[in-house]
Amino acid sequence: MRGPGLTGETGGDVNSQPFRKIKGLMTGNVYIVEGDELVIVDTGAPTDFRIIERQVKRLGRSVEDIGHIFITHFHVDHAGAAAALKEASGARVYAHEADAPILAGEEKVQSVYRTGVIGRVASAVPGVSEGMAMVPPVRVDVPLKDGDVVPVLGGMRLIHAPGHTPGNSCYLWEERGVLFSGDAIINTYHVLTLPTVGFSCDFDLAARSARSVARRVADEDLRAVCPGHGPVVDEDIGGKLERMGRRAGRRLGP
Ligand SMILES: [Zn+2]
Ligand SMILES: [Zn+2]
Repeated sequence: MRGPGLTGETGGDVNSQPFRKIKGLMTGNVYIVEGDELVIVDTGAPTDFRIIERQVKRLGRSVEDIGHIFITHFHVDHAGAAAALKEASGARVYAHEADAPILAGEEKVQSVYRTGVIGRVASAVPGVSEGMAMVPPVRVDVPLKDGDVVPVLGGMRLIHAPGHTPGNSCYLWEERGVLFSGDAIINTYHVLTLPTVGFSCDFDLAARSARSVARRVADEDLRAVCPGHGPVVDEDIGGKLERMGRRAGRRLGP
């Protein structure tokens, strides 16, 4: 039986990949990487805790085996179950330093938008933005900056992609060529694209960041792009990223 209104899956599209994808209906993707310890990239909504727990059990493991939780940004559909997972496992939590105070509940998202940590407020819809920040507070153990490499899985490099949120980030699993792109680059209708305008605090900056991420990973030998929403991309990755970057450039105008 599946939980009410939620569906869990191990991505059939990623069976050959060294990670598993779990998706809650309406929520962001969750990725699990199995090693001695389990590594989770994004945690879905608060109610996704049960789905993650179930999937972990299917792997013959327990949530206590989760050692590391990487969060791409503070939105509730990505960081929602982080507090419960950390509580259950004692895992270390990683996120960009700009989103850490919001994740911890120490700073209201409103203040981020109003004081303009990222310099400019373009497309924030205040009510929606605050709703997206209704995250059960979770302390970030290791606040990260652009380029920081966490010595987990042979190296997880944070690529800062601000705009969607101030601390919005991707993680590059260097050893395996896997880019966890969060909401910096999502996959809708099998086209890599930008995050939703209404949910992004600075959409122009989000577009610039998406283009810049595409450029920065162009020379990496990527085997997969794991977006925050939509299916994993494992074919024509370079081409798809380049076309996304060009479309993002057009959104920005001359
Ligand atoms: Zn999202
Ligand atoms: Zn988001």
